[in-house]
Amino acid sequence: MEITLNSLDRNYQEKILDFLPQKIFDLHTHIGLPKHVSELSEERQKTTFASEASSHSFREREDAFKILLPGKKIQYVSFPFCFKEVDIDEANEYVLQKKYPFILGDLENPENTLELLDKNEVKGLKVYYDFVKKDYKDIRISDFVIDIFLEALEKSEKILMLHVPRSSLNEKENIEDLINICRKFKKTKIILAHMGRCYAKDDLTKSLTFLKNFPNIFMDFSTVSSQKIFTEGFKILGTKRILYGSDSPYSNTKGKIMDVPGIMKNAFITEKEFPWTKPELRKWYLDNKPPLTFLIYHQLEEMRLCSKKLKFSKENLEDIFYKNAAKLLNIQEL
Ligand SMILES: [Zn+2]
Repeated sequence: MEITLNSLDRNYQEKILDFLPQKIFDLHTHIGLPKHVSELSEERQKTTFASEASSHSFREREDAFKILLPGKKIQYVSFPFCFKEVDIDEANEYVLQKKYPFILGDLENPENTLELLDKNEVKGLKVYYDFVKKDYKDIRISDFVIDIFLEALEKSEKILMLHVPRSSLNEKENIEDLINICRKFKKTKIILAHMGRCYAKDDLTKSLTFLKNFPNIFMDFSTVSSQKIFTEGFKILGTKRILYGSDSPYSNTKGKIMDVPGIMKNAFITEKEFPWTKPELRKWYLDNKPPLTFLIYHQLEEMRLCSKKLKFSKENLEDIFYKNAAKLLNIQEL
């Protein structure tokens, strides 16, 4: 994907570059090549948001960040794209080529996953519900975060990167499953991707009431673009358990997660039309044309505003954007 910046994008970029620390650790990036993915049926294209940008090489990631966040020194955790049509073995082999890979768990061949988790260079496990053969609404965390994976993570003290199923973290089944995992696997560090997909403040407040006291719960704030949610997250978890992640390359899309009055809450409104774009949201976008920049800029701008409001120090920002991740990954040089 060719990335060019218009004047709106440059406006965002200027403020963001000034705000961000020099050293950054991006804990949430997807990496893979077109050959790792088999073709999606038309039906699947309509429902599988994750399939749209389904390849991104290490080189493409490097080039994109050079344009989007020029001058910053960024390190990355890399994991494969996560949907059924991805060849898990090949995709895992590819991410292993660079530092800090998280492998994609294979529910059909869990022994392959265990073998990879045994390798020193593998830092964590990414699991995803798309591989569970159940109706989406019936899937629970325990269906794809299986005990043998957790036992391996616990032994090696590695990281679990978890995108919670259902509407958000704030569902009884998700909270129950996470409490069970936290009680049993105390050394496994769990990162809830996209702040547990709590795009409404209430969901975050309520679910964290049950989970905040487990020290192994962390959150990455990839794709979340709401000052309110960030502020609430920091109020509850402090600045040591929330970490930066971009969700690259999805974050290079021009779009924002926002409430569309009368139609949908927390809809992903994009400038471009995708196979999964809902017609009523498309119509709303064309009628209203809200100014959109790259998702990564919307996210970071909201974090900048939150940081201003909470009066974050340089040290706070270094924690959020680098040190928290470095600590989780046991990187010595801070
Ligand atoms: Zn992701």
